[in-house]
Amino acid sequence: MESIDACYLRGFSATVIAADETSVTLDKTLFYPLGGGQNWDTGTLSWSGGELNVTEVRGRSEVQHFIGEDHGLEIGETVEGEIDWERRHAHMRMHTAQHLVSGIVYEMYGGARTVGNQIHANRSRIDFNPVKFTDEMIEELFHKANEMVDTNMAVTDCIMTRAEINAIMPPERTNMDLLPISVKQLRVIKIGDNVDLCPCAGTHIRALGEIGDLEFIGRKNKGKGTTRVSYTLGGCED
Ligand SMILES: [Zn+2]
Repeated sequence: MESIDACYLRGFSATVIAADETSVTLDKTLFYPLGGGQNWDTGTLSWSGGELNVTEVRGRSEVQHFIGEDHGLEIGETVEGEIDWERRHAHMRMHTAQHLVSGIVYEMYGGARTVGNQIHANRSRIDFNPVKFTDEMIEELFHKANEMVDTNMAVTDCIMTRAEINAIMPPERTNMDLLPISVKQLRVIKIGDNVDLCPCAGTHIRALGEIGDLEFIGRKNKGKGTTRVSYTLGGCED
């Protein structure tokens, strides 16, 4: 995604640059493909000859939109894309909540790192290591997170160099130490005035208040000091 503002765009026009039996690749797209622990967007593609649901989106530089067999689209045709906003917005809220919770866990529990995450529209999960949560810690964590949501702090994005990021946040907190050294410039998501800062290419909201109620679902010991914490948001529950 180019920017947080771009995450709020729902419709676009594009040209088909490749097509196979079940999918098309477009010259540009607003559909977020599977990646970075975040699920793909769904929605529709329509054109002069028809309209089909986009059921799956995959790829990096060439993004494939899966629309099923017999779509009949050919290279050079113009299509109108429309994102399923409810699902997209849930992903934006869930993903920003993940940044918030990961930052709080790092600060409150001895530098515990985020070692994995799965962002879905109805529930999401984050894996932390090394940490073992008591009931009190979970209560404290979600209380703190919801307190932060209530501040409605701004969420912004910018491009920063590796050195600039590492000068502000420990590399273990941002996972900068896991990024290939060849990556010099990164898109960074900031909460407030460097309250949290994390390189990320996912979709996010403009202010913490949009997250709404953060609700704890459960925790699970994954072994070797890793604990998985699942959460949902008000309005996102199954
Ligand atoms: Zn993110």
